[in-house]
Amino acid sequence: MKTMTCRQLGGPCDLPHHGDTHDDVINAQDRHLKQMEKDGDAAHQPARDEMKGRWRHPRRSLGWYREMKQAFADLPED
Ligand SMILES: [Zn+2]
Repeated sequence: MKTMTCRQLGGPCDLPHHGDTHDDVINAQDRHLKQMEKDGDAAHQPARDEMKGRWRHPRRSLGWYREMKQAFADLPED
């Protein structure tokens, strides 16, 4: 289990996401951003829009995805 924060995943706050794989924390961040958008949190809107764009253009987003995968791999276990 490792922890990545909203900020480490490109967001504006320090909410921690826990997961066994980088996919877990990316999906947790996606849920978090959706929730913040629903709550009308303007600070999270740019990150939310970027995430939306990533799902729409997966090939173009591979660089970011690899970066997150590497960042996750470099983290110590909780
Ligand atoms: Zn956040």
